Amino acid sequence: MSFSTDVKNEIARSPFGKSCCAASELCGFVRTCGSIVIEGKGNLGVKIATENPVVARRIKTLLLERFGISARLMVGEHEFLRNRRVYELSVSAAKGGGKILRQIGVIPGDKQGIDSISGGLDARFFKKKCCRKALLRGIFLGAGTLSDPQDTYHLEVIFAEEQMMIATKRLLGSFTDMHVKTRQRRGNHIVYVKESEQIKDILTLMGAHSQLLKFEGIRIMKEIRNQTNRANNCDHANMDRTLSASERELSFIRQIQRMDRLDDLAPALLDTALARIDHPDATLSELGALLHPPIGKSAVAARMKRIETFAEELE
Ligand SMILES: [Zn+2]
Repeated sequence: MSFSTDVKNEIARSPFGKSCCAASELCGFVRTCGSIVIEGKGNLGVKIATENPVVARRIKTLLLERFGISARLMVGEHEFLRNRRVYELSVSAAKGGGKILRQIGVIPGDKQGIDSISGGLDARFFKKKCCRKALLRGIFLGAGTLSDPQDTYHLEVIFAEEQMMIATKRLLGSFTDMHVKTRQRRGNHIVYVKESEQIKDILTLMGAHSQLLKFEGIRIMKEIRNQTNRANNCDHANMDRTLSASERELSFIRQIQRMDRLDDLAPALLDTALARIDHPDATLSELGALLHPPIGKSAVAARMKRIETFAEELE
């Protein structure tokens, strides 16, 4: 099962919020995976479709327990992907389809018919934090996905309408100062978040607490692995640098040796040259510490420079 499905299943199995939140959550579902059924004479029904059976059960229970509406459940096949099932809940006008649409703000007030259908999200769902969380749950369960954190940090919600993309960006921003991005893809409008800290915030807001722990565990493991890799790379780079500098110094020293002129070096330079021959892997600081009296890194570097000049003058 994908990480996304695990998250959705956890949220879908969590208890419903307070009674004020029911309409918010239902609004999230209908606005993302619902459609309006026009039955004629201004009568409207609602259909909600999802590929997740746990989500379908949550919507059915929510409708029954909080709205007293018994929705009809049908299990069909995906239009294009025959191996995928679609769970469809329908509420006809006679069973209260229009009532639902009014309660979630798709049709304002006591108006009827398709002329008054509005897009976006009703302002009353933004008033209380509990209701905003419920709205976010409904929206994510209806149209959200979350990548496996082993691969990448990416949470997105896809909408058919731009208005919903804008409203959801505003919704996410209403909790904390989030870096929410938007883009278009094949005519769809997408809200997405790529920062692990913000994805964690969203998981907390939606009540996916065990998946949050799993997410955090994976994130920490990745972080440790990256740090170890960085440290290894860093050690290798430093060692390579020391070795190549040392090889260069040794080549001058050997040249002086070949021409039997080591004795012509000033005593301090000779000590330094001999220390280098004995300790080819040592850094300049380490080399300086081996000398009598010990000297600092820059003093060793200055001596090496003089050895180099001496060797060059021999040619
Ligand atoms: Zn509420």
